[in-house]
Amino acid sequence: MDVLVHTSLVDMYAKNGELQIASCVFWNMCSRNAVSWSTLISGYAQNGFAGKALELLIEMQNFGFQPDFVSLVSALVGCSQVGYSILGRSIHGYTVRRLDMDQVLGTSLIDMYAKCGSISYARSVYDQMSSRDVICWNTMIASYGIHGQGNRALSLFCQMIESNLEPDHATFASLLSALSHSGLVQEGKYWFSLMLTKYKIQPSEKHYACLVDLLARAGQVQEAQNVINSMTCEPGMAVWVALLAGCHNHKKFSIGELAAKKLLELNLDNPGIYALLSNFFSAARKWDEVAVVRKIMKETGTKKVPGCSVVEVNGRLHAFLAEDKSHPQYKMILGILEELEHEMIAMGYIPKTEFVFQNIEEEVKIKMLNNHSERLAIAFGLLNTRPGTRLLITKNLRVCGDCHEATKFISIVVKREIVVRDVKRFHHFKNGICSCGICNLIIIHMDLNLPIIMQLIGARDSARFRLSTLYSIIPRCPIDLLALPSKTRAQGCTVDFIDNLQQGS
Ligand SMILES: [Zn+2]
Ligand SMILES: [Zn+2]
Repeated sequence: MDVLVHTSLVDMYAKNGELQIASCVFWNMCSRNAVSWSTLISGYAQNGFAGKALELLIEMQNFGFQPDFVSLVSALVGCSQVGYSILGRSIHGYTVRRLDMDQVLGTSLIDMYAKCGSISYARSVYDQMSSRDVICWNTMIASYGIHGQGNRALSLFCQMIESNLEPDHATFASLLSALSHSGLVQEGKYWFSLMLTKYKIQPSEKHYACLVDLLARAGQVQEAQNVINSMTCEPGMAVWVALLAGCHNHKKFSIGELAAKKLLELNLDNPGIYALLSNFFSAARKWDEVAVVRKIMKETGTKKVPGCSVVEVNGRLHAFLAEDKSHPQYKMILGILEELEHEMIAMGYIPKTEFVFQNIEEEVKIKMLNNHSERLAIAFGLLNTRPGTRLLITKNLRVCGDCHEATKFISIVVKREIVVRDVKRFHHFKNGICSCGICNLIIIHMDLNLPIIMQLIGARDSARFRLSTLYSIIPRCPIDLLALPSKTRAQGCTVDFIDNLQQGS
């Protein structure tokens, strides 16, 4: 058989997810060309095996083949998946020197930069493109969304409409998701209804899930439930998860129970969902249901996926599993974490041991939190980079509530920007604030900076208003500040209560 037939076989197996067979066919070929290499690389990238795709890209060159368009775009997908920005940047350089920038390549670069934490680079690639199709606009809007820049996503969406480009169902999914990540409830409701009335796009489950998520995050769980009742399609997992997460965070247990029961009925094979259900029932003190969920998890062998965080240091990726003590620098990493913990506690950090779902002693729980994968990755990054270097961590699960809290403190102690990309979105931590705006208590005042807030609140009533509950400064939310000391109120601080939204270790 010739190269063409073999390459088609590789393609067919890869597209069906049979990567081992695809790889076997590939390596048994008598001769290969650049297309065969690209096919295998693309297969690995599309199936989520980014590391292998990137390895093959390098190996291809060792065999004397120059990467072509398909392999480069596949490699960019790989870089996006694992947050490998240095390789992504070098592929960008390579394409600028050798290839014409077209819409597919440009869009892949935008996606890569955004997913590697560099939203400004993503925008500059977008600005440099001479022509843009709907997919390109959608990618840029979605990128703003995952970075929590809902207003920018909305303004780009408005520009898209002004330039007479017709938004499609994917545009609205990106927009609604962006508005949801930024808590822009009114805007989300407005554009959801216009999508149907003006643009005649029937909402799919994805759109409904975004709207339910938007409402549920803001605590409007009754309205979210009404949306589900009005759905024209059958509500699936994404919709119920969005409702359940909102109910969990806002302690709306009766509606939450309904969502939880619907999820149980779906009989899903998804460990994350069972972890969410188990956490929800524990919070609602429904111990019988907790036992039922645990039993399902045991029977089906559904175990929690271990947390894994990757940090890029000096051009190389370093992966850490939760509780992983095998790293050669583990002792130093632990030393840094203990030192940080000491300083953080002095500033008001209280470990949130409720994020350890095991019946063990408090002290052991605190140790376990300190060993979460993102904590290990951050400490490794701090150890091996110059002071002031920005750290980028990519995590396979959602960042847990305690690590989210701790990273805010760490960003103050080490005076660094720490960017964490979890399975849902980006968190940019700087000066004790996270871009996602998620925390228990949000202090809003345009003129006050963090040290002043610390001074005001810490000095007056440190027992009630610890720093741990006061740090996100965002210029929106209603003004109502009965809880804060009068001096603070006189200064114009405003407070809004928003519960934590994170799960996972
Ligand atoms: Zn954690
Ligand atoms: Zn965050």
